[in-house]
Amino acid sequence: MKKSERQKKFVQENINLFRCPTCQAPMARVVDNSIVCQNGHQIDFNRHGYLHFLTGAAETEYGREMFCARRQLLESGLFTPIIKEVAGVLPDKPLRLLDVGTGEGTPLKQLVSLRKNDRDVMVGFDISKPGITLATQLGLRAFFCVADLRKLPFNDQRFDALVELFSPSDYREFNRVLAPGGCLIKVVPNSGYLAELRQLLYGKNQAKSHYDNQRVVNLFKQHYPNCQLKQVKYQFTIPSGQQEALVEMTPLHWGKGARQLTAKELMTLTRVTVDVSLLIAKKGE
Ligand SMILES: [Zn+2]
Repeated sequence: MKKSERQKKFVQENINLFRCPTCQAPMARVVDNSIVCQNGHQIDFNRHGYLHFLTGAAETEYGREMFCARRQLLESGLFTPIIKEVAGVLPDKPLRLLDVGTGEGTPLKQLVSLRKNDRDVMVGFDISKPGITLATQLGLRAFFCVADLRKLPFNDQRFDALVELFSPSDYREFNRVLAPGGCLIKVVPNSGYLAELRQLLYGKNQAKSHYDNQRVVNLFKQHYPNCQLKQVKYQFTIPSGQQEALVEMTPLHWGKGARQLTAKELMTLTRVTVDVSLLIAKKGE
């Protein structure tokens, strides 16, 4: 099946997930190449085969190059232990799962292959068009769209699980689309995350060479006082030739004061620490 046909079939079968970004009424049906809400607002499947739900311009710095670099590292296994941990936390029953800030889609692809549950309904969205274009090309049995996490184009209580890897959050929207008892898993970097790369880029600038996640963790705890925390920490051996991709994929190097690394310095980077926390909560607890 062509990717545009696959995406359209998914929407037809799961039309009750979606709501109109203009008037918030439920989406009613697929007509020809469009999805139409109860009040007649219409969004077309674009030439890449996905739906674009943003009503205004997107503010994102993530371009195609960053996503290609990220895919290269993720296919090499950079985040595989994290995805395994996430898969282990999810219930076994068939799930309607939303991947928040899905990027180019590889984490969702890895999650789909670990779950092996063909009754799962998997949806990934991102604000970045280059990311979703790449994700749609994966040919997964999942649906991808461009959307804003602060204005989710989904009806209330439609998802059993929300997963987000290094993405910002909007807990009001998350609680709205999660079903009662639904599960939220947020992955945040700990201070040791990619420490070797940070030290190369920022040297002794302590403020930049360490990441402090306390504010993010505290905010999560405020919303979900009974949440669980799980640390996942390991060393990742960087495949030769992928050092540059690692620098490219991480937004760290946009921070002020990052040095331009020489090829020789990059060569010294053979292993990096991946250190993250899984913040796990259930809606209503
Ligand atoms: Zn509408």
